[in-house]
Amino acid sequence: MIWSCRLCGSGIHSPALALGPLPICNDFNRKAVSDRRHDLDIVECETCQLVQLRDAPSPSLLSPAVPWIRYREPEGHLDALVTSLLALRPHARRVVGTGPFEQPLLSRLAAQGLQTHSVSLDTAAPAGRYPYLESWQATLNDAHLAALSAQHGTFDIVSCRYIVEHSPTPILALKALKKLISPDGLLLVEVPDSSKFLAACDYCFLWEEHSCYFVEDTLRELAHVSGYHVLALLRYPGALEDALVAVLAPRRESSGPPARGSSELFQIYRDSFSAQRGRLQARLRAAAGPERDGLALFGIGHHAIMFANACGVADMIALAVDDDADKAGFFPPGFRVPVVGSARLLADERITTCLFAVAPHIEGKVRDKLAPLAARGVAFRSIYAALDNAISKDLA
Ligand SMILES: [Zn+2]
Repeated sequence: MIWSCRLCGSGIHSPALALGPLPICNDFNRKAVSDRRHDLDIVECETCQLVQLRDAPSPSLLSPAVPWIRYREPEGHLDALVTSLLALRPHARRVVGTGPFEQPLLSRLAAQGLQTHSVSLDTAAPAGRYPYLESWQATLNDAHLAALSAQHGTFDIVSCRYIVEHSPTPILALKALKKLISPDGLLLVEVPDSSKFLAACDYCFLWEEHSCYFVEDTLRELAHVSGYHVLALLRYPGALEDALVAVLAPRRESSGPPARGSSELFQIYRDSFSAQRGRLQARLRAAAGPERDGLALFGIGHHAIMFANACGVADMIALAVDDDADKAGFFPPGFRVPVVGSARLLADERITTCLFAVAPHIEGKVRDKLAPLAARGVAFRSIYAALDNAISKDLA
């Protein structure tokens, strides 16, 4: 079977980074089973260089079976972003947010006197499922957005933050968003920039919910192919991922992306995986010890879960630690132990290594909380390959 690129439509023939049938990261269960799995193959288009899932799982497979799955997206740059937006459209009056990450931006624009509107997710959920991002991304289609526009009119600013990378059909999504844009209006598309984690050979950022892994060039091409001018492409630095914001104005014509050839960035990323996994397994097996009781993992989100399952180390983890009360008692998908709070970690004398899967800006707070562990010689290492204390790095 020949797979075609989600961005340029060319056939993709280059080998995939094949991670195998991995459990869906939001599949928390009361028992140590995970029935929902997907073959995760990551490829790069050798024509336009978009890194993408070869085969995106269906929304029905992804839809969470617990009501508390929620993600956080960066907000620290939003004051600066508002300034940039209003400089481009000083007379903007009406703004709409098209997903669940819009309120922090809408509040700031409301404070500047704009009339804000947020869309709600009103899909009929099957029994026992709690629709989230997989369902939000599916609302970015012609019929739905035409109905919204008929009901609420068009908007001077249409904001779409952290949803487009979830869409298996990003061009159709951007084209459909034109229905909401007023004649002189603009579209804001914000996505995570993938270049840092690709360069660091960090595999925990891969995710069955992200169909596309954009970098600046491919986000720009997405805009062009979907029929937009790029008014601004803004980058806001993050320790692990930068935020990329494309500010776009619709135009009539669209253009195909140039042929670029495969990138060294992805080839190295793909080809380094198996050695990296082997090294991690050896290191963590040693840390876990013969009784497999020495290793804890702190911060049980989709990065931690992907790290454990993609690298094949989930069964080495003796304590899965997270202080989110919603997660307590649930088995993270692929794990043999349920989530416990940090009190359990502090009380467990067998733990010798604690892996951190927490954002770098809160790692200091976590270290303070876990100071008694450090005092008795427990090693703290990060799952994030770009950080100085990464478990994948050789420390002196
Ligand atoms: Zn392509």
